[in-house]
Amino acid sequence: MFLPTKSAACNALSKFLPDAGLEYAVQRNYDNGPDTKASVSKLSPWIRIRLLPEWEVVTAVLEQHSPADASKFIDEVCWRTYWKGWLQMRPSVWQNYLNERAALLEDFRSHVGYQRAIEGRTGIECFDSWNQELLDHNYLHNHARMWYASIWIHTLKLPWQLGADWFLRHLLDGDPASNTLSWRWVAGLQTRGKTYLARPDNIRKYTSGRFRVEESLSTEALELDEAPPPKPMSLPDLTHPQDGLKLGLLLTEEDLSAAEWLPEQNTPSSMAKYFPTDHYEALDICPEVVEFRRKALGNSTGAGTFETPRELVEWAKREQLDGIITAEPTIGHWPEILKLLKAELAAENIELFTARHWWDQTLFPHATKGFFRFKKAIPKVLEKLAVQPA
Ligand SMILES: Cc1cc2nc3c(=O)[nH]c(=O)nc-3n(C[C@H](O)[C@H](O)[C@H](O)COP(=O)(O)OP(=O)(O)OC[C@H]3O[C@@H](n4cnc5c(N)ncnc54)[C@H](O)[C@@H]3O)c2cc1C
Repeated sequence: MFLPTKSAACNALSKFLPDAGLEYAVQRNYDNGPDTKASVSKLSPWIRIRLLPEWEVVTAVLEQHSPADASKFIDEVCWRTYWKGWLQMRPSVWQNYLNERAALLEDFRSHVGYQRAIEGRTGIECFDSWNQELLDHNYLHNHARMWYASIWIHTLKLPWQLGADWFLRHLLDGDPASNTLSWRWVAGLQTRGKTYLARPDNIRKYTSGRFRVEESLSTEALELDEAPPPKPMSLPDLTHPQDGLKLGLLLTEEDLSAAEWLPEQNTPSSMAKYFPTDHYEALDICPEVVEFRRKALGNSTGAGTFETPRELVEWAKREQLDGIITAEPTIGHWPEILKLLKAELAAENIELFTARHWWDQTLFPHATKGFFRFKKAIPKVLEKLAVQPA
């Protein structure tokens, strides 16, 4: 269903474009099941790795719809940027999640309720069906994700961290920021005092009656508490490579669009690709997700793909590079990998530089409080897009 190529991503975008205006705003909450025409774009697996970057999607949408008609869809695309900016300025939230996840996975190894949930044997028909859909398609509609997470936390009373881990391992679009912070939001930890409680009548309505929901779902949200999130740090200033350096470009599965925008700012003489298989194994990401990302990287322009720091260093030496430039990684597994690469390259006097796309540079600093404040900055990026208006 989701092929790891640019042409598949562009085809899916073209097919969705006519519905990206008011139709999306009206229909987007309906989840009529995996075998019917979707009310949403289903572009997230490609957007996640920026095989389809946000600016390309928004430009295409504005070529067919007025900004007013497309505003709901553009807001949703920008929710992703908001979550990513929010976490980028509060990396300890991700680190805490990783620590808690590791401890809970140990504690819940033989927990019956947890095993039933991930095997789709809870007896709650809709939940078990979404679990199967997640395993079969590696994708769920947003509303199904909300209901699933709510039942996981508030009805089954399982730790949100294990639910977030289950999603991250199976979603093609699995993303440290969007996933962790959405689970925190359903749990009532992200927006204080606001939990998300799945209601049977809401599920019936927005699945067009596919589920009867006769099982009893919790009518009271669990009250979880923890210390408030840290204040946002400012984004680091990035060092630009000095003129005259011989640079190589490093492309990763985190931002496949970098092959297009990085050379505009710098002139790399060669390009390498790096796929961190070890890190996917450490997080126990399912083979479908790993293969989608590995193939998407492999199908992008450029030479072979490296998997160890040594291979990258040897390549940089062969190419007689002074430095390597790559897209700044967002919070997740890549900042750690980059630290490792930086140290190994530094031992050979090769510098590693990172660059931030103007989309992130413009929007991330606004993710200090809630989305509604952040949203006021969206016109700043829309102005920069070269759009032939609808
Ligand atoms: C518990 C939970 C976990 C989630 N985990 C992830 C995740 O790991 N990765 C992920 O990309 N999204 C996640 N989301 C957000 C959202 O569900 C998906 O982005 C969306 O369902 C993807 O489907 P689509 O491409 O058809 O979305 P559309 O509705 O067509 O939206 C277009 C694009 O906007 C972005 N987007 C839309 N809604 C959101 C949102 N609420 N938050 C962030 N970005 C959004 C996505 O990039 C999406 O592809 C999660 C939501 C919940 C409630």
